[in-house]
Amino acid sequence: MFEYQAPPNLLADRVILVTGAGRGIGAAAAEAYAAHGAKVILLGKTAANLQAVAQRIVGAGHPRPAVFELDLEHAGTSDYEKLEVRIDDEFGRLDGLLHNASLLGPRANLDEIPDADFIQVMQVNVNATFMLTRAMLPLLHRSTDASVIFTSSSVGRKGRAQWGAYAVSKFATEGLMQTLADELAGSSLIRANSLNPGGTRTDMRAQAYPGEDPQRNPRPEEIMPVYLYLMGPDSTGVNGQAFDAR
Ligand code: NDP
Repeated sequence: MFEYQAPPNLLADRVILVTGAGRGIGAAAAEAYAAHGAKVILLGKTAANLQAVAQRIVGAGHPRPAVFELDLEHAGTSDYEKLEVRIDDEFGRLDGLLHNASLLGPRANLDEIPDADFIQVMQVNVNATFMLTRAMLPLLHRSTDASVIFTSSSVGRKGRAQWGAYAVSKFATEGLMQTLADELAGSSLIRANSLNPGGTRTDMRAQAYPGEDPQRNPRPEEIMPVYLYLMGPDSTGVNGQAFDAR
C-alpha cells in the first residue's frame, strides 16, 4: 500500500471535482476529500447515486457538495462549458480534478469487439476526459496549486489479451496525462499525474472478474492515501508521474 498519512486539514478550502463520484472508488475519494476539508463537486451519470454520496458527506458534518449530473457518453462541449460557468459562479476556481469515471466494456479479443462498444468505451474513458480537462483548465490556472489525476490501470501500462478497448483507453489516458504534464511543466502551477488503483472491491472489478472472491481486494476506502497525497500540497511539483495505489 502507498504509505502516506494525510493531515486532517490537508485539503482545507480546496475545490475539487470528482468524476464517477456516485459509487466505487470515486465515491470513496469524494468522501475522503470532503473529510479532509475540501469543497467537493460530484459529477456522474446517475443522480440517485450522487445524491446518496452528498447525503453521506453532509451526514458526516461536512459542507454540502455541489452535484452535477452528466452522462459522459453523450456530453458535448456545451455541457462542459456549462459546468465551467457553474463552478466559476459558485467557487471562482478549481484546485483539483480527479478523472475517475470509466467504462469496462467487453472483455473479449479485439476481433470480437463490435465498433459501437469500442467507440463507447473510448468516448467515456478518453474523449470525455480530454473535453473535461480542456474546459476546466482556465479554472485550474486560477488555483495557486492545482492537481489533475488521471485514473489508469495496469492494462494501461502493458497491454493484455481480452482487455480490449478498456486497455487501449487507459494507454490513451496515460498519453493525455503525459502530454498535459509536459505542456504545463515549468510554466504552470498545475500538475498532472496518473494513478492505477490496482484491484479494488467495486462493481467494475466484479464485472471484470466474475468468479473472484471480492474479499481478496481492498475496499476503495483503504486505497485513499495516494489519492490524498496526489490531491494535496505535499505533492506540489510532482508532475508527469505514473503512480500505483499499492
Ligand atoms: P465502478 O464501475 O464501480 O464505478 C464507475 C463510476 O463511473 C460510476 O460512478 C459511474 O457512474 C461512472 N460512470 C460510468 N459511465 C459513466 C458515464 N457515461 N457518465 C458519467 N459517469 C459514468 O468503477 P471503479 O470504482 O471500480 O473504478 C474507478 C476507476 O478506477 C475507473 O477509472 C477504473 O477504470 C479504475 N480502475 C479500477 C480498478 C478496480 O479494481 N476497481 C482497477 C484499475 C483501475 P454511475 O454510478 O452513474 O453509473
